[in-house]
Amino acid sequence: MTEQTEQRVAIVTGASRGIGKAIAKRLASDGCKVALVARNEEALNAVKGEIEQDGGVASTHVCDLADCNQFAGTIQAIADENDRLDVLVNNAGMTRDGLLLRMTEEDFDAVIDVNLKATFIGCKTAARPMMKGRFGRMINITSVTGISGNAGQANYAAAKAGLVGLTKTIAKEFGSKGITANAIAPGYIETDMTAVLGDDIKKGVEQMVPLRRYGQPEEIASAVSFLASDDGGYVTGQVLVVDGGLTC
Ligand code: NAP
Repeated sequence: MTEQTEQRVAIVTGASRGIGKAIAKRLASDGCKVALVARNEEALNAVKGEIEQDGGVASTHVCDLADCNQFAGTIQAIADENDRLDVLVNNAGMTRDGLLLRMTEEDFDAVIDVNLKATFIGCKTAARPMMKGRFGRMINITSVTGISGNAGQANYAAAKAGLVGLTKTIAKEFGSKGITANAIAPGYIETDMTAVLGDDIKKGVEQMVPLRRYGQPEEIASAVSFLASDDGGYVTGQVLVVDGGLTC
């Protein structure tokens, strides 16, 4: 294993709120310099401020992941500026739900682009600087929906299932270079993404989940922290389900 001599550099996409924000704050408190990526500049600056108040180091990078060139350029610039890249957390995600018969091609493509294709671009761009450092941690946020499917989410489920195949393939291609690749599959986590669910669904969720509650973003961040750490160094190609037992 490579000795850690300097501060590790971590990129977190979708760091402006929700799970990504919690991941960024956790990696910063673990000692990483964290590059925060999303579209909302004001929200990114607020997260940076919180990290700095806690004694951490962060930078902000406004970027639309639907634009592959912009995203690849952002990652390359972060790696160049720091002369290293150690951790990439592909967390940004979006939904455009609808039953299959009513789902438009545009809604399918938009969800695939941000949830799946951007992760491919991210991992591909991050691979070279990680190989240079002979250390890397790629962590892709999938969903239990990618494992079980979910009515009304054909696009999202396809994207999240695709992330599993992508992650396992990267683990096989880059293991010999000191790079691990893993996915985390959250269940229902309390964020803006789930805030739109009606009260009936919310009550139903709480009854279906063995732990009888929604997960908190910090509980996904803990899993990321482990996979990004030296303690997680022999774990690769895995899907870590963090769902309160929903799919067990
Ligand atoms: P959220 O609160 O809706 O946050 C989504 C994040 O993604 C925001 O920071 C948003 O930033 C960013 N984002 C979306 N589209 C983007 C784009 N085109 N370019 C750049 N950034 C973009 O969602 P969340 O609940 O934290 O979800 C985070 C991840 O966990 C997603 O991949 C989601 O699929 C997954 N997940 C969530 C749950 C859950 O229950 N919450 C369950 C399973 C999986 P801007 O708007 O500032 O760009």
